[in-house]
Amino acid sequence: MDRIKTIALVGHDHRKRDLAEWVSYNAGTLRQHRLVCTGTTGGVLAEVLGEDFQLTRLKSGPLGGDQQLGAMIAEGRVDVLVFFWDPMEPQPHDVDVKALLRIAVVYNIPVACNRSTADFVVSSPLLDRPYDAQLKDYHDYLDRPLD
Ligand code: PGA
Repeated sequence: MDRIKTIALVGHDHRKRDLAEWVSYNAGTLRQHRLVCTGTTGGVLAEVLGEDFQLTRLKSGPLGGDQQLGAMIAEGRVDVLVFFWDPMEPQPHDVDVKALLRIAVVYNIPVACNRSTADFVVSSPLLDRPYDAQLKDYHDYLDRPLD
């Protein structure tokens, strides 16, 4: 990971306000990085942050935005995921949510699913430094015998 990170920001509907408050509070830090959001979250955050932010909006989460983010993670194009998912409400795209969280673990990127963890991540000195995430060696899996 470079010194400047690509930070993905996603919030479910009942968590968007919380995410927007967190983003607003940390705007000074986040301004130094690239932001990528699912569609509706991106619209909310763009209003909070104003125009001088590098913010990319993908499709809305349930319409493929979570999968777009997952693909970006697999391609090494996202460094940090801040994902305020809603623990109180089932989502129509639960499988996409699970897949996004899973792929973030596979590629060992930091994932913050609540405000406390997001605070720890954003205040880490590693956020502003190059960082080599250790990737598990999947060769055994890739070279497994097939029937
Ligand atoms: P949204 O998607 O930002 O388009 O609402 C969020 C999500 O993944 O549920």
